[in-house]
Amino acid sequence: MESKRASIIRESLDALAEDATFLPDLKDKEREKAFKSLVSLLSTPNHVHKSFLRVPLEDQQVIRIPAYRVQHNDIMGPYKGGIRFHESVNEDETINLAALMTLKNALHEVPFGGGKGGVEIDPKDFSPKELNLICKKYVQNFSSTLGTEKDIPAPDMGTGEREMDWMMAEYKTIHPGKTYRGSFTGKSIMNGGSLGRREATGKGVYFTFRYMIHDFIKENKQWFNKIDNRFAKTALSYYDQQLEIAVQGFGNVGSVASLEAYHCDHLRNKVVAVSDRNVVLYNSEGLDIPSLIEFKNKHEEDLPTSKHELSEAGIKADVLNRDDILSLDVDVLILAALEDQIHEGNMADIKADILVEGANAPITEEADEYLADKGVVIVPDILANAGGVIVSYLEWMQGRETQFYDEDQIYKLLFDKMKSTVETIYPQFFGDPFPLRQNCYIHSVMKLSTVLYRQGKLY
Ligand code: NAD
Repeated sequence: MESKRASIIRESLDALAEDATFLPDLKDKEREKAFKSLVSLLSTPNHVHKSFLRVPLEDQQVIRIPAYRVQHNDIMGPYKGGIRFHESVNEDETINLAALMTLKNALHEVPFGGGKGGVEIDPKDFSPKELNLICKKYVQNFSSTLGTEKDIPAPDMGTGEREMDWMMAEYKTIHPGKTYRGSFTGKSIMNGGSLGRREATGKGVYFTFRYMIHDFIKENKQWFNKIDNRFAKTALSYYDQQLEIAVQGFGNVGSVASLEAYHCDHLRNKVVAVSDRNVVLYNSEGLDIPSLIEFKNKHEEDLPTSKHELSEAGIKADVLNRDDILSLDVDVLILAALEDQIHEGNMADIKADILVEGANAPITEEADEYLADKGVVIVPDILANAGGVIVSYLEWMQGRETQFYDEDQIYKLLFDKMKSTVETIYPQFFGDPFPLRQNCYIHSVMKLSTVLYRQGKLY
């Protein structure tokens, strides 16, 4: 069965093939052939590398672990995408996520292609020494495919700066004398990481939402009042209103997005609920986000789970069941946990009118269609959560230049880039009947198609 992403790519290309103003030099049979090439090029990866890492454990057992590196497309630049350590990692999912990276980078004009990696483990089952060995083996097994100008991994679920530091060190050992700082991004600051990388995705997630509901409407108020578009009506109904926000997932992305909302001067915001793998915390008056972050930092990343823990931390909230976050009666729901959280089984329970995808693919295809038909505005992953890869690009540049930017410079460059994307996408979205996801895909596919055509690849 065709994946959700492959089917949106195909639909976008079908729409572009019908539009005679797009690549107008391509006509009749030649046009048909070129679009067939585009479908096959963009819906399949260039390379799928699979390897079984052979790892001796501390208890003397030796195990083999499936690991992947998928290189989807590099027409825009070196392959780029995270390495995930999770027990659910598999080939199809890695291909899907690599394709998303190609589209995300094209949408935001980050000069990288799309890649993704994964190791099929639960990192919690391994000691730091074993994880270090897994990281080294990953680099050894894929060493000929990786490199500063070829394929640049970054952290993803289950990996972080520690793993990137280890991997970069192994890359340096394998390739003596080669430049190595740009071989991995998401490294620690001490090892050439960028200031602001940790916060970049959450900040970008909140920015895409805030810009839509505030800045963009403010600048285009008269136009908004005139247009007849269901998504514009939804967005306009929240302009300058008190907004209640719920955030699923209080990890890196969710906690930073919550803090941005908490401190935002542009909107009258209240973060009334946040959740993690254990609980939902709810307070209709708004949650004390800085205290929750302080608590999570001291308690292995988890939120308080009992009245006792809440009162010790001086936080006022009710404790609800984990999945209640999705059906709360709020205006905005930021999804910053996992894939496939809103699906056929719970889509009818969603009450928020604006959904923001901090996580990759948190809404299934069926639920996406159902909600878009109801006029729910969905800010898709490809648009909302690109902050990480944008600052990864800045890290890669800083590694090449061996000059480092301060945090303010990084955030300015991040917001400038995201602003330039949303300024192109939002007018198009509110001006036509298609959901925002489709608009973003069409935009990315147009860019990729034009470059592929101009490089003579559509034979
Ligand atoms: P993280 O591991 O720091 O946080 C994940 C959070 O989700 C944790 O609070 C965890 O307790 C919670 N969680 C896990 N299962 C849950 C469940 N069933 N219900 C509710 N909460 C649950 O991860 P992160 O870096 O914040 O990433 C979150 C998502 O965003 C992932 O899907 C990731 O792929 C995506 N993403 C992250 C980045 C980045 O830069 N970190 C960039 C792009 C996309």
